[in-house]
Amino acid sequence: MSESKQTKYVTAGRDKKWTNGVVNPPIQRASTIVFDTVAEKQQATINRANKTLFYGRRGTNTHFAFQDAMTEIEGGAGCALYPCGTAAIANAILSFVETGDHILMVDTCYEPTRDFCDTIMKKMGVETTYYEPTIGEGIRDLIKPNTKVLFLESPGSITMEVQDVPTLAKIAHEQEIIVMLDNTWAAGVNFSPFDHGVDISIQAATKYIVGHSDVMLGTAVASEKYWDQLREQSYLMGQCVSPDDAYLGLRGIRTLDVRLRQHAENSLKVAKWLQSRPEVDHVRHPALETCPGHEFYQRDFTGGNGLFSFVLKTTYPKATTALLDGMKHFSMGYSWGGYESLILANEPKSFNSLRTVANPNFEGTLVRLHIGLENVDDLIADLEAGLSRYNALILEKEATA
Ligand SMILES: *Cc1c(COP(=O)(O)O)cnc(C)c1O
Repeated sequence: MSESKQTKYVTAGRDKKWTNGVVNPPIQRASTIVFDTVAEKQQATINRANKTLFYGRRGTNTHFAFQDAMTEIEGGAGCALYPCGTAAIANAILSFVETGDHILMVDTCYEPTRDFCDTIMKKMGVETTYYEPTIGEGIRDLIKPNTKVLFLESPGSITMEVQDVPTLAKIAHEQEIIVMLDNTWAAGVNFSPFDHGVDISIQAATKYIVGHSDVMLGTAVASEKYWDQLREQSYLMGQCVSPDDAYLGLRGIRTLDVRLRQHAENSLKVAKWLQSRPEVDHVRHPALETCPGHEFYQRDFTGGNGLFSFVLKTTYPKATTALLDGMKHFSMGYSWGGYESLILANEPKSFNSLRTVANPNFEGTLVRLHIGLENVDDLIADLEAGLSRYNALILEKEATA
């Protein structure tokens, strides 16, 4: 019987080769690796791509332990490391496209992913077509003879649409198109990429893998077919991370399961409470039916987390500001995946620059929450007070209208 994922989180990457017999691998800092004999140096050179000490840029035992752990928990043949999630996305794409190629990019991708396509890819003569996250079989009509990469992100950034990954991957594979997934929301583990047809699973490990809002780190795990090319081309683009950051990524994996389960339990309770509020139009939490693509979440995911959005019935920026400014436990910050709660608001017109084909069909302000590990009732009380501030200004506006 294969081990359960909880057990894997504890054992992954703890090979004695890397740990030297202690529980956690030492932080091994190196630029230069030194060899005593010609034979030793030759051996290292032959095996340099295969977790052998060779030169600092190829990594040390600390990196090798983290890379092993990532492939043990996510699957795939190997894991390349990057200084942040954005570098992982850019390098994964750059490792496989050339001038004249075409990318199919989900319209709800992370904003810098879109900007990368619209600037650097464009400059290289690589064309991007954005597609609706819920397109399903319709993706067939957008495939061109030069389509090289189908890029997914599920759930989508901010608006949370869950994609039908197996259907999209199957169609892409009929044409030898490489399927890449930004798998950050699932932390690589609550959506098993290689069981659903993904070729390269990318993560901002900055988020849940690290889990404590104190490290920038990116990972890309590739299937056997694409691992060599991803590794070698990323290497040529100079991608590497510090051993301290690799260490903290590995340490995050140890508590990933308990953290994700608590984030998920808290976030579902907050989401259901929001559903009962009169100011709220609908809640975009993948575990709830009101989230686009909920059925794919039910079918393909093995757990949730703390990140979701809800849409208010109205839009009145002054009231939204009153809501956001007075929060006690929710801070405003552009990240998520740490132990702390976060809040951001998007006015509907802000999607005009973030989307080209999937303009959201709602009228009110969208609020994105990251539900942290605080006591959930404290968080609900905080949101309740925030909505009271919001309502007071809406009432004032209506009275003067
Ligand atoms: C944060 C994030 C990234 C980028 O990661 P960085 O480490 O901040 O560069 C990519 N994709 C998603 C979905 C993210 O949330």
